[in-house]
Amino acid sequence: MKKQYIPTIGLEVHAELKTRTKMFCDSKNDPDETRPNTHVCPVCMAHPGTLPVINREAVRHILRIGTAVGGTLADFTEFDRKSYFYPDIPKGYQISQYIHPLVVGGKLTGVALTRVHLEEDTARSIHSGGKSLVDFNRAGIPLMELVTEPVIPDAETAGKFARELQLLLRTLGASEANLEKGEMRIEANISISKSGDFGTKVEVKNLNSFRSVERAIAFEIERQTALLSEGKKVEQETRGWNEERQETFHQRFKEGSADYRYFPEPDLPKLFLSEVPGFSKEAVRATLPELPWERRTRYASAYALKESDIAYLGATPERATFFDMVAKALDDDTELVTRAANYIISDLAGIYASRGREDFASLDALAFAKLMRLAADHTLSSRGTKDTLRIMVEKGGDPEAIAREHGLVQIHDAGALAAAVDAVLSREGKAVQEYKSGKQAALQYLIGKSMKESGGAGNPESIRKLITEKVG
Ligand code: ADP
Ligand code: MG
Repeated sequence: MKKQYIPTIGLEVHAELKTRTKMFCDSKNDPDETRPNTHVCPVCMAHPGTLPVINREAVRHILRIGTAVGGTLADFTEFDRKSYFYPDIPKGYQISQYIHPLVVGGKLTGVALTRVHLEEDTARSIHSGGKSLVDFNRAGIPLMELVTEPVIPDAETAGKFARELQLLLRTLGASEANLEKGEMRIEANISISKSGDFGTKVEVKNLNSFRSVERAIAFEIERQTALLSEGKKVEQETRGWNEERQETFHQRFKEGSADYRYFPEPDLPKLFLSEVPGFSKEAVRATLPELPWERRTRYASAYALKESDIAYLGATPERATFFDMVAKALDDDTELVTRAANYIISDLAGIYASRGREDFASLDALAFAKLMRLAADHTLSSRGTKDTLRIMVEKGGDPEAIAREHGLVQIHDAGALAAAVDAVLSREGKAVQEYKSGKQAALQYLIGKSMKESGGAGNPESIRKLITEKVG
C-alpha cells in the first residue's frame, strides 16, 4: 500500500485586547466605533517625533493568558520594531516582540504553544470605488499574538483548539474575540509529508469563522496531497480563503523574517517583569478566575451531566455564570440541577434560537431556579413550565405570578377537577362504555377531554385517578 501523507498544522492567532486606551498612547480603544478616524492622536497616527508609552493593562492581559496556559512568563522582555511598508502602518514599522516575548511555551487542549507576545494593531485600509481610504481607529489597539508549535494533526483538532482559545480569552476578559468582527484572527500553516521531516508550509489567511478554519485546512491537505501525488511541488506561499468557492487561492509569496529587520525599539524601556508591582508570577496567578477546563471538571464531578451537556454549559462565560447562579439557588440539589441543565440546554436554547440571540445575562437566575422548583413539585406541567419560561424570557417576571396570570398552574385538587370530569363523562357515553370494556385508548381519550374541559390546567395524573374512581 502507498504510504499516506501526514499533515502538520501550526496556528498563529491574533486577538484585540480589551483595554481602556491603545497600546502606546491614550487614544480610546473602542472596536465598536463606526465613525472613522475618531480615536486618534499624533502617536497612533505615526507623526514623527512622538513617543510611545507601554499600556500596563495590555501587558497584564498577556501575562494572565500566559499563566492560564501554563507558559513561562519572561523575567526580561522588550519590544522590537518589525519593519515593512504598507499604508496601514505609516511609521514604516510595527512595534512587536521578537527575541524576548512576554510568554514562552504552555499548552492548550493538548497543543504545545511556542509563544504569546504583545504588539500593536495596524490601521484598517478600505478599498472602494477606485479609492483607498485608511481608518486609524484600529491603529495601535493592543494585539495578542499566540503561536503554536507545528504539532496539530488535523482540521478538527485545530478547530477545537481555536474554540477553546476564544473561550479562554473571554473568560479572562482579555478579548471579545469575535472572529466575524476581526477581534480574533486565525492564520493556519499547513504542510504534508511522508517522511519524518516537515514539508513545505503554506499559510492561509482571512479565516472569518471556525468552520472556515477547518474547511481551509482540509482543503489545503487535499490540494497539497494532489500536487505531491502528481509529482509536483508545494510552493511556500500565503493563500487566502474564498468563502463562496470554499477554496484557498494564491495571495503572495512570503517574505523571510530577515526582511523585517527586527531590532529593539529604542523609544521604549526594557521590562524586568518580576520587579514590576503586580506582575510577579504569584501576583498574576492570584488574579485568574476559574478557567474553562477547571469549570468543566467541576461540573463533571459535582453534577450528573453528560459530557456534551457540560461542553454546552461551559462554552460561553454567560452560560456558565447563569448555570452556576441557578445551581447555587437550587442548593446544588442533584435532581433539581439536572432538571435545570435540561431546561437550559433544550428549552431555553430553543427559545433563544427562535429569537436569534442568546441572552443569559438578562434572565433572572433566581426566577429560573424558582421555575425549576415549580416544575419539580408538579405545580407546573412540562408544557406549563415551557410556556412560563418563554414569557419570562420575553418580559421577565416571577414564574408563579406568570403561571397564575396565564392559567398555567396545574389543578391537582379533586374537588376542583370533579366538575370537569363529570361533564366529560356524561357527554362521552360511548367512550365510557369502551373504557369499561377494557379499551385503554378510551381512557386516554377521556383524560384528554377532561384536561381540555379544565382549561388545560388539570394535572393528568389527578384526572386519571378521578376517572378510574368514577367509572371503575
Ligand atoms: P515564519 O517564520 O514563516 O513565520 P514560524 O517558524 O514563525 O514561521 O512559524 C509560523 C507558524 O507556522 C507556527 O504556527 C508554526 O507552528 C507553523 N509551522 C512552522 N513550520 C511548519 C510546517 N512545516 N508545517 C506546518 N506548520 C508549520
Ligand atoms: Mg512567524
